[in-house]
Amino acid sequence: MKDLIRVAVVGSGPAGFYSAGALLASQEPKAAVDLIDRLPTPWGLVRLGVAPDHPNIKAVSRAFEKIARQPAFRFFGNVELGRDVTHAELAERYDAVIYAVGAQTDRQLGIPGEELPGSWPATAFVAWYNGHPDFQELEFDLSHERAVVIGNGNVALDVARMLALTPEELAPTDTTDAAIEAINGAGVKEILVVGRRGPVQAAWTPVEVGELGELAGADVLVDPAALDLDLASAAELEAAPPQVKRNVEHLRAYADRPVAGKRRSIRLQFHASPVAILGDGRVEAIELVRNTLVDGRAMPTGETEMVECGIVFRSVGYRGVALPGVPFDHRGGTVPNDRGRALDPDGERVPGLYCAGWIKRGPSGVIGTNKKDATETVELLLEDARGGRLPEATGEDLEQLLAERGLAPVVYAGWEAIDASERSRGEPLGRPRVKHSTWDELLTAAQAPRADRQLDG
Ligand code: NAP
Repeated sequence: MKDLIRVAVVGSGPAGFYSAGALLASQEPKAAVDLIDRLPTPWGLVRLGVAPDHPNIKAVSRAFEKIARQPAFRFFGNVELGRDVTHAELAERYDAVIYAVGAQTDRQLGIPGEELPGSWPATAFVAWYNGHPDFQELEFDLSHERAVVIGNGNVALDVARMLALTPEELAPTDTTDAAIEAINGAGVKEILVVGRRGPVQAAWTPVEVGELGELAGADVLVDPAALDLDLASAAELEAAPPQVKRNVEHLRAYADRPVAGKRRSIRLQFHASPVAILGDGRVEAIELVRNTLVDGRAMPTGETEMVECGIVFRSVGYRGVALPGVPFDHRGGTVPNDRGRALDPDGERVPGLYCAGWIKRGPSGVIGTNKKDATETVELLLEDARGGRLPEATGEDLEQLLAERGLAPVVYAGWEAIDASERSRGEPLGRPRVKHSTWDELLTAAQAPRADRQLDG
């Protein structure tokens, strides 16, 4: 058994960082970790997915900073698999490679009009308001009185809530200035959130449902009739875990609450599926069909309604994207694996190849779920190392390969420079940071000499 293994982890979101942390904690063998990301910034969805008005969730990044401070850790930002380095080149150099790249695209509805201008994946809106450098050119037309959000997960609630925040609620967050301006100036009066099944079957969680009721600038509207549960749903609720019961309690409270007449409202509509998005050159309306539940599944009744709207956010889940040179299950959008050990199309293990997080299990769970998930992968990787089952690696340095190609990765000190610059821009405004959100700005900030950074602060 080697005393020291060298592992590349691709993707620096929670699954990547938790994988790195578990590896660096190993004593036999010891591990050195190179964490690679296509962006110049680490933390994945903690930086670019978690809603900016949820700073407590973002605070998990402190645990990642602690991992990054360990001497056997290196960060290679601005390095894209397939463009700058291939999987084969990583496999040659490292004893093992863990893919923790998340789920980088959205699931489709598969209905007419889905591609009309004004019909957006919720994930694009989320990336935009969070300052993802690939999404800053997008223009969301929020001038119409009604925005529709399809889906009953936490992302749908994030989008609905962000659209409903008041200027005072947005001001202390790290939402991009462009997004703050657009949301503050939006003509949106109603945000209609549409679930294909009922309140008992919704995928969201109680804290997120509960905080809708605390919004300063939005009423939450729920039709009491939606809470007249059919027999099967009532039985499901009876047997459901406490969080489902709490979700329904929140909804009952909203249904009972008098309307305060706030600036905006979030209306939660259940048992309805989109059948078409309509409009002449842009979204003007969405056609919904009323559903009934049959064995827990949403079945269309044929009864339809047309809802006028100017924008539609499709929030029906993320989807993993295939990585060049790495086995992929196109149906599930994951790397086929056995508890994190990647499998080839014949179901055989691929020595030295592992996965963790959403690309391993699909886009489910909260940030903390990835700790257990990554630990499982790393334990098996270490077991393979101890059993001599990792392939021979040359150990040649990635840094050298990138330098030979004229590529300049953003190393951890570069990210620290970005971080310091963003925080110093935020501090006088009482904001956690003002993000650099274009590639140019990010790369410039990453190269800022230390003295500049101190001047900034
Ligand atoms: P999600 O939780 O899987 O929810 C997807 C929603 O889309 C479900 O309500 C689903 O309904 C619905 N849906 C799927 N296909 C549909 C279709 N064809 N037509 C209509 N509706 C459809 O996904 P997510 O909201 O993207 O969240 C991803 C993960 O991140 C989740 O685990 C979530 O909890 C987590 N997250 C957590 C937080 C937080 O903790 N604050 C914030 C954001 C995200 P069915 O149930 O009927 O399939």
